[in-house]
Amino acid sequence: MSEHQLGSEERPLRVAVVGAGPAGFYAAEALLKHKELKIEVDLLERLPFPFGLVRFGVAPDHQKIKTAAAAYERTAEMSGFRFLGNVQLGRDLSFAELRDCYHQVVITTGAAGDRKMQIPGEELSGSLPATEFVGWYNGHPDFQDLELDLSGERAVVVGVGDVTTDVVRLLLRSREELGKTDITRASLEVLKQSQIREVVVLGRRGPEQLKMAVKELKGIADDPDISVSIDPVELAEARKRVDAAKERYDSATFKRLDLLEAISRGEVGAPGRRGTMRLEFLRSPKALEGAGKVERCIIEKNRLEPAGDDFKARGTGELETLETNLVLRSIGYVGTPLEGLPFDERNNVIPNEEGRVVLDGEPLCGVYVSGWIKRGATGVIGTNRADSVATVHTMISDVMNARKGESCLAPGAAERTHDAAAIDGLLKERGVRVVSWADWQRLDQFEVSEGKAAGKVREKLVNVAEALRRIS
Ligand code: NAP
Repeated sequence: MSEHQLGSEERPLRVAVVGAGPAGFYAAEALLKHKELKIEVDLLERLPFPFGLVRFGVAPDHQKIKTAAAAYERTAEMSGFRFLGNVQLGRDLSFAELRDCYHQVVITTGAAGDRKMQIPGEELSGSLPATEFVGWYNGHPDFQDLELDLSGERAVVVGVGDVTTDVVRLLLRSREELGKTDITRASLEVLKQSQIREVVVLGRRGPEQLKMAVKELKGIADDPDISVSIDPVELAEARKRVDAAKERYDSATFKRLDLLEAISRGEVGAPGRRGTMRLEFLRSPKALEGAGKVERCIIEKNRLEPAGDDFKARGTGELETLETNLVLRSIGYVGTPLEGLPFDERNNVIPNEEGRVVLDGEPLCGVYVSGWIKRGATGVIGTNRADSVATVHTMISDVMNARKGESCLAPGAAERTHDAAAIDGLLKERGVRVVSWADWQRLDQFEVSEGKAAGKVREKLVNVAEALRRIS
């Protein structure tokens, strides 16, 4: 055993963070800023590109939100930080191998899966998760082969959260505006051919359960390209329900209802130049039908039923039909299991207590989680900062306890000294082309200069092999 304490200058605490999205960067930042311990962080990422949802989730016309990446760049410049891009857990190394190379491991892999509607016809061509559409226009290498039929006039989007507001804007906003952003060249070309002029948005519950942020809804209403339509009778009924039980609802619900009413009265928003977002509440898709591809969506009308402190949607049996050949389900992202780690199938997260991973009720020592894989796909980008700070607090207290002999680190980790050579050697042996931060900076410069030449923020590389070629 080393004479030096874990976390000393001579024996730094070595941590692997898996997943270079917001939660991963915030965890790295909190670790590297820690005053009492000397900590080194390797941030592993399966793609050659960092920033996760900031790059691949946040919509291209929300460039202000994407400036979060500037803070991540500052973290990457901190002493003790390394980026190990193009390294995939499960493909390039096992979880057990990773754990052996570090004192602590933090999983921040997010929620890459999507929730299913569980209805007949869901697998037909023309029915897809919004997550794929989002990944496609944002240049995620996994979704570049997506085939989209935008030849119809109407699309249906299921779910009333803010992924839906993103999808509606991308389907209906002016191509000139989008053309200045970092939307990919290929997706912009496809969107230019789009004939879609109406996006019907289906909420399974009432207007009072709308999840869109007021700012996002107002953004759509104020967009000169998009009109918002909503049935005033449906709104009046929602207002009655809310007024009858005011204590059940938060202030955001009232703000959203006020805004919907103002839109419906024509006081907010203007006739859209390109198309309409039609909000339809108390409706669920019951089936998708068509010969080999979606041609229509069968919708069941719902009523609300009390369920504890909340309300749930219950089908009434009354059906409607909407002609469409594009149905995007925007009903939530879900976490996906990682080999070698426990998974809570019900909540789609890695089970944890205060960020410490739990296996069969016992802590899996030295293994932690943060972000969507810890708490589910909720909150905005900044929510992950507090989440990662909380996980790092748990990690540091485990190290402090280990110093007192009450360890919750991986077996033997308190005694072991680690250095970068262990992981570097393993990856080299396997022939993995690790993308360093300096490599990424070269890719970044290339993307920005390509974008500049085309009059846009950046032109993303969308293919892993091409990215690797550019830095070889
Ligand atoms: P979300 O906000 O949780 O919304 C999911 C929607 O899907 C809800 O309306 C939900 O209705 C509905 N839903 C779930 N299961 C359904 C089913 N089986 N059938 C019909 N509807 C169903 O999720 P999200 O839109 O994917 O967003 C994920 C997170 O990212 C959220 O925290 C969001 O705020 C954030 N985000 C923010 C921005 C932004 O700030 N610009 C942009 C994108 C995403 P119920 O309420 O009835 O369950």
